[in-house]
Amino acid sequence: MNKLKLVFATNNQNKLKEVQAMLTNFELVSLADINCVEEIPETADNLVGNAILKAKYVTEKYGLDCFADDTGLEVIALNNEPGVYSARYAGEDNNAEANMAKLLKNLENNPNRKAQFKTAIALNIQGKQFIFEGVCKGIILTEKRGDSGFGYDPIFMPDGFKTSFAEMTMNEKGNISHRGKAIEKLVTFLKEYTW
Ligand code: IMP
Repeated sequence: MNKLKLVFATNNQNKLKEVQAMLTNFELVSLADINCVEEIPETADNLVGNAILKAKYVTEKYGLDCFADDTGLEVIALNNEPGVYSARYAGEDNNAEANMAKLLKNLENNPNRKAQFKTAIALNIQGKQFIFEGVCKGIILTEKRGDSGFGYDPIFMPDGFKTSFAEMTMNEKGNISHRGKAIEKLVTFLKEYTW
């Protein structure tokens, strides 16, 4: 069966693998695969805005159908920080260890550990744009647990579970995660889309 080809505007191999595992009917093509090596500006102040900017860049510059995602971790006791700035929380170099250390420090002795991951996806297809969102609620642990996944996974425990994201397999996490939910909406939409 011919698989639908779509650009996933990312360079993050972890994300590409996670999403490809859920999107078995589609062939995902990364930014590297289309020789897009330049940094795409993410200058919006919200997740949906950044997803739109990234997808628009690829569609306009390369003339390809594309989807882009943007994710943030919102911590309730920190006024929803780091949010859209999750990658850069402790500095420009997207250092997961430094980001987690800063978050744990800012939440030290704070009993309100509530947080949520949010993912926004912008899809550009045949000249139209569609937005999908996914949320995963949970708590911020007081110390790191597990070593799978990436980013803030070791300190995030989703509601209803006794393990952190970093103690789950990629499939377990994908079934309940923010990105998994947003991707599920994208996939459902694409399956029903008539060309
Ligand atoms: P991005 O928009 O997917 O690149 O995500 C921005 C930042 O949020 C990443 O650099 C990570 O720090 C964090 N992040 C995104 N998704 C996840 C996840 O599934 N688990 C843990 N951290 C994540």
